Amino acid sequence: MNSHQIIEALANGERPSRSEIVDLLHPGFDDEEALFTAADETRRRYVGDAIHLRAIIEFSNYCERNCVYCGLRRDNKTLCRYRMSPDKIVERAVDVYEMGYRTVVLQSGEDSYYTSEIVAEVISEIKRGREIAVTLSLGERPRKTYRLWGDAGADRYLLKHETSDEVLYAKLHPDLDYRERFRCLRDLKESGYEVGSGIMAGLPGQTLESYADDILFFAEAEIDMIGMGPFIYNSATPIIGSGLNNLDFVYRLIALTRLVTKDTHIPATTALTIKDLEQGRMKVLSVGANVIMPNLTPDKYRADYAIYPDKATAAEVIADSRESLAELAASLGRYIGEGVGGSRKKAGVG
Ligand code: SAH
Ligand code: SF4
Repeated sequence: MNSHQIIEALANGERPSRSEIVDLLHPGFDDEEALFTAADETRRRYVGDAIHLRAIIEFSNYCERNCVYCGLRRDNKTLCRYRMSPDKIVERAVDVYEMGYRTVVLQSGEDSYYTSEIVAEVISEIKRGREIAVTLSLGERPRKTYRLWGDAGADRYLLKHETSDEVLYAKLHPDLDYRERFRCLRDLKESGYEVGSGIMAGLPGQTLESYADDILFFAEAEIDMIGMGPFIYNSATPIIGSGLNNLDFVYRLIALTRLVTKDTHIPATTALTIKDLEQGRMKVLSVGANVIMPNLTPDKYRADYAIYPDKATAAEVIADSRESLAELAASLGRYIGEGVGGSRKKAGVG
């Protein structure tokens, strides 16, 4: 099949082979517009024109892990560390709810200061009498902890597998285990969460085959939410590599992921919009994405949540107001989703 035929087959619901995905990711592939158009149509057909907002609160930048690409890694002594108290986290989440957001994402480094019980308490306080979805992004924990948090009311969990290349995974994560990562994702699914995974693109050592495996994994594991963004070099980390020269490749990955996974939630991740927030979001939303994650971390902590450089920008503070986001949606002929905007898979739709 030529690339045009592959795109058509994908749009008609066929599951691609690994080599077909590789063909569409190959630098020689020259039908990008057809791919983007098909992805946008698939997005409209399966998840509609709503853009869902997920307000993120980065409540602690302490991390016990040492992922070689990340500025929060424990060996980075140049970072000024902070923790929000459980009360402050709840207070901020309630503020976010009162601003009109119906999903709050609580994210941090892997920080055992927040015990399973403390986090459970935070979740149930946030949920008390409020129609708000709580998404957690706190890294790897035992199955019984995921269960406890689910029982406390947590709805969703984000844990990217980062790359499906097992050898590369081991190099990038000196203190994490590839199988354990997938154990966590399985446990989360079995515990009733809507599960988010994802990857970085442009890590030194990734191959077109490994990206193809990533996309096939999303589909096979019925992942509900998929975060994909470029790796951004951070000089406070030991990784060597400059990342991607431009974002075209990530747009292609997103478009393909939409075409293959159909009804998933795909955010325009912050890392994808770092160069030009507004334009970046417009582009990603027009090639398959349907979610924006505005940053609602209290201002005084933002600069210290330095996973990669320039993450906290002044533009973000302005562009992340609900008015600006509604304008952005309208300029694309779309609208901001009401309610919690849960998984279409879970609802049995599409
Ligand atoms: N500790 C949790 C959540 C915080 S890290 C966890 O690891 O799951 C959130 C995400 O930041 C990671 O999944 C990773 O994909 C991304 N990240 C880390 N370093 C990055 C970098 N240098 N460039 C782009 N994204 C990065
Ligand atoms: Fe910690 Fe997550 Fe960064 Fe790894 S990616 S060092 S677990 S914050």
